[in-house]
Amino acid sequence: MKKKYKTKPGNRLNALVYYYKNKDAIRAKDNAFRADPKNKKTLQLRDKKIRDRPHNKVYQRNYWRNYRANEAAQVKIDARAKANEIKIPKGFKCDCGNLATDRHHTDYNKPYEIIFCCKKCHMILDKERRQKLK
Ligand SMILES: [Zn+2]
Repeated sequence: MKKKYKTKPGNRLNALVYYYKNKDAIRAKDNAFRADPKNKKTLQLRDKKIRDRPHNKVYQRNYWRNYRANEAAQVKIDARAKANEIKIPKGFKCDCGNLATDRHHTDYNKPYEIIFCCKKCHMILDKERRQKLK
């Protein structure tokens, strides 16, 4: 249900006019606030508040419900569950030199064929696989 706020019709417009008049100063102030490590906690809480809005929660619940019902996704879910059974050897290094934390599937139809890699390389590998499928 949408809550209706009583505001004067001109208020929103005035706020926009104010913003565009003082855009640079407002943005500089905001960037300074974000750059200060002291404000990290405040920003995290603000993000969490936005993320946990009721309509966002409903959206996410529906998203995952639909995802699980999707047959193509089921192959991925099974493959990931099987890959999670395989432990990453302790201290195993990725090709780039970082510690391996992820398991990458080159092909979801071969659930046990995985590559140990770091988070950064995993994103690159996933991008490559997506491009191959196109
Ligand atoms: Zn790596």
